Amino acid sequence: MRILLLGATGQVGWELAQVLPAHGELYTTRRGAPTGGNNDFQLDTQDLGGLLALLDRVRPDVVVNATAYTAVDRAESEPELAMRLNADVPRALGTWAAGNDCLVLHYSTDYVFDGSKPEPYVETDTPNPLSVYGRSKLAGDEALLASGCRALILRVSWVYGRRGHNFLLTMQRLMHERDGLRIVDDQVGAPTWCRSIAEASAGLLVHPALRTGPDAAGGVFHFAPTGHTTWFGFASGIRDLLQLDCELTPIPTSAYPTPATRPANSRLDCTRLVETFGIELPTWRGELQRCLHMP
Ligand code: NDP
Repeated sequence: MRILLLGATGQVGWELAQVLPAHGELYTTRRGAPTGGNNDFQLDTQDLGGLLALLDRVRPDVVVNATAYTAVDRAESEPELAMRLNADVPRALGTWAAGNDCLVLHYSTDYVFDGSKPEPYVETDTPNPLSVYGRSKLAGDEALLASGCRALILRVSWVYGRRGHNFLLTMQRLMHERDGLRIVDDQVGAPTWCRSIAEASAGLLVHPALRTGPDAAGGVFHFAPTGHTTWFGFASGIRDLLQLDCELTPIPTSAYPTPATRPANSRLDCTRLVETFGIELPTWRGELQRCLHMP
């Protein structure tokens, strides 16, 4: 299997680059200077012509798109750029893949929902994004599904890891710098380690349920660990596991205004994924422990 991974430098992309070589011949792209390996290419995905030329050159069986415009607040003032990266790229991928019998694995977000549902969201719930980022990601999901290619969209939430920009690293830094922090306690979700997403993705790509044919599994699947918490609960878990001395105070979202509005409920129901692929979901606390204690 020839796999093209777009965006080997992001949280999820970096982890994918570690696990995917076990499953096929891996080609990677990055926005910055390439590493020098034969299979690593420099690509700014704003350059759709360059993307299509690379697809024609590599001719992958699978494209994994780990690139995205992920600056949720900045997207409010850069809607065209967010749309170009989050909607136009999956559209172009889908069109190429449909004509070349290629599977596209892509990632979506809980921010496509408005968070007003009291229970966890299922894949068939009607999206209603509250932010430019959420709208751009939804447009990407819809374009990819409409392209007619074989597509697998994993919808994930609250992603963290030991690299890049995320809540875990921000908290770790701030807890060392300050005696106390005020953390939002009325948004609910499941913190998700980027390595879990990469490991699940790799497992899906070789799963028999994903075989070609009329009954092949595809479409949108929610992926999240079990359990849920708030940002305050997540911060408390980080502090306790790292044994840091920082007083945490729960606050409402209204006391921490941001340019982009976030959904109050980010919980994702993963029944479809579990039943289709037999995946065993980890617990969010167990994953946080695994992440923090890895060497
Ligand atoms: P990151 O922000 O960590 O990584 C984004 C990747 O996209 C980086 O490799 C980045 O490259 C690349 N990229 C951005 N712009 C361009 C460009 N113009 N050309 C080429 N590459 C570009 O994202 P995550 O790993 O956290 O997210 C993975 C997926 O999960 C995305 O689809 C995201 O929408 C989704 N998701 C993420 C959530 C989160 O909390 N982070 C929550 C829900 C969904 P560079 O390193 O050069 O910047």
